[in-house]
Amino acid sequence: MKKKMIIPIFVSHQGCPNDCVFCNQKRITGVKDVFDESQIRHHIESYLEGSNVDKRVEIAFFGGSFTGIHPLIQKKYLDLATEYIMKYQLEGIRLSTRPDYISEEILKLLSQYPVKAIELGVQSLDQEVLETSKRNHTVEDVYRAVEYIKKTPIELGLQMMIGLPKDTLHKSIKTAQKIIAMKPHTTRIYPTVIMKDTELETMYYKGIYQPLSLDEGIAWTSQILPLFYEAGITVLRVGLQASEEVDLGKGIVAGPYHPAFRQLVEEKMLNEFVLKIYEENGNKPLIICANQKMYQSLIGHKRKYLNHIKEQGIPIQFKRISGGEDSLVFESEGRKLNDLSIPKYLR
Ligand code: SF4
Repeated sequence: MKKKMIIPIFVSHQGCPNDCVFCNQKRITGVKDVFDESQIRHHIESYLEGSNVDKRVEIAFFGGSFTGIHPLIQKKYLDLATEYIMKYQLEGIRLSTRPDYISEEILKLLSQYPVKAIELGVQSLDQEVLETSKRNHTVEDVYRAVEYIKKTPIELGLQMMIGLPKDTLHKSIKTAQKIIAMKPHTTRIYPTVIMKDTELETMYYKGIYQPLSLDEGIAWTSQILPLFYEAGITVLRVGLQASEEVDLGKGIVAGPYHPAFRQLVEEKMLNEFVLKIYEENGNKPLIICANQKMYQSLIGHKRKYLNHIKEQGIPIQFKRISGGEDSLVFESEGRKLNDLSIPKYLR
């Protein structure tokens, strides 16, 4: 199957009159940003030049709330993207927006263009979390938007955040479960980090808000991510994308940010599975044979899990073997543990 490539175009805050406590779109893009056609053309063309033809390419409008932009400006963006989609036979347009900026009228406009996917920033399905985060939309708005989008052939994406003000692990799990019940095609999971020049930053300095630590963010996500995997929902992203803007000390004040956040979460999921098997096997010595890639995940970032089992005196050994994808073999007392059902997403 051909690999997917997304050409991201960040639209400014101009479409969004809201001020979610965690958002610094105004700072990132500047309120004065206007549609600059030549810049966008140059951006798309440089991506296309650098890509090989063997890729499925989408043009994506991210950043603001696309469908909140004035319809004439939306049309300009969509016309421009469509021109490239036709010319280079690209896959379509992807865009992100707020749940309350979806209506039948808006979808009618989008349906005139090759819009392939709409990603809604749901963030939470807990009304208290939405209110404290000043999202300025309700849980019902999400359900309404989902219902409208599902009546069209456009793919649905639902994004969530964890660790917002008033959020708890229980509430985040509930949000994930409710998102799954809506059967989106894709999701993105973002742990809340405090960006500079946001209300969250002020709340943090006043002691009103405390972000999750990196370990907490990993622990919460390691309980949420498997829910999506088990439901067969494509998880497009876990954690903020590394960029100059989000690097600690530059754009980020505090919070669970790590450039390899997803990898750290998946390592934790694997480690928990290993400990579960160890317990189920009566705490008997265990040898786990793994290929190079899995071995790295087993021992963890900076040998975290290897050091942990050593410190705790847990008789688990990790061994490197050569082999393909399925090279994860558990042995105990000289025999293979064959009857394990290792979730596909852990291999
Ligand atoms: S709706 Fe989106 S763009 Fe608008 S303030 Fe909130 S997070 Fe930022």
